[in-house]
Amino acid sequence: MKAIQHSHPNHYNNPRIDREVPLGNAISGTVYLDIGKTIWVTSMLFIGTIGSLVTASVGAILLFISFTALTLLFGHSLGMHRRFIHRSYACPKWMEYLFVHLGSIVGLAGPFGMLKTHDMRDWAQRQNQCHDYFSHASVWYKDAYWQILHSIKLDTPPPFEPEREIVDDPIYQWMEAHWMLQQLPWAILFFAVGGWGWVCWGIASRVSVSIIGHWLIGYFAHNRGHRDWHVEGAAVQGHNIKWTALLTMGECWHNNHHAFPASAKLGIEQGQWDPGWWTLIALEKLGLVRDVVTPEKTQARDELVRL
Ligand SMILES: [Zn+2]
Ligand SMILES: [Zn+2]
Repeated sequence: MKAIQHSHPNHYNNPRIDREVPLGNAISGTVYLDIGKTIWVTSMLFIGTIGSLVTASVGAILLFISFTALTLLFGHSLGMHRRFIHRSYACPKWMEYLFVHLGSIVGLAGPFGMLKTHDMRDWAQRQNQCHDYFSHASVWYKDAYWQILHSIKLDTPPPFEPEREIVDDPIYQWMEAHWMLQQLPWAILFFAVGGWGWVCWGIASRVSVSIIGHWLIGYFAHNRGHRDWHVEGAAVQGHNIKWTALLTMGECWHNNHHAFPASAKLGIEQGQWDPGWWTLIALEKLGLVRDVVTPEKTQARDELVRL
């Protein structure tokens, strides 16, 4: 692996993207209709509304609620975000694969897609200025239309170099190539147990709600809500959206996340509920998780100011 040159020793650096040269430009780029994304989202929305309405049952709705919670907690928050992207705790490889699989079936993208989308946005938001696509600065309906159906192509993107151990991993390569197909074994299981109702609610409605919910939280988390920290020089600040703590499994403490990106603990103040963190502590007690990073263990940042 190539040695990484940090531009500032006391500034936060994303190891995959923050290199001294060449620096990318976060402002000029083209937002384009992403055909693959559009077909995926519209078909999930169609089946998830019409199909789910005609097949509704108590069992199907309970499955929808529990499987949404399970995939968001273990998959999206603990698997994709806190482990795969930020490596903020260590766990056995089988557990990482399982959690990243559950994160893939949330339905936003495969592991490499999630990694790149996350890191590009994180990098762009830390620049002095960035494109409205990255900052969620457009009026809400335009932002929804952009984030849910479009992608951005920067004129001069920064170099993006994920760790070799991730890129060369055949299991992750497979998960990336077949991220939509990973719904299939679950769909077959749901069909066998509860028929079409369970497939519509457990797959299509769940994916639809996860995609729209992910956008909604992203929109609010970069536009309004409480802030305890300010990242100097950054075009975009994160905000905490208190009332969504349980719904987002703790991911809503986004002001904290902008302040301490490497921390596995997102709800860091008294009363900031963080189901992802509670689960991580339980897994640590069971001996499955170790080397958990908290804000105190992260490197001090010159650009971080307490408000
Ligand atoms: Zn952010
Ligand atoms: Zn993050």
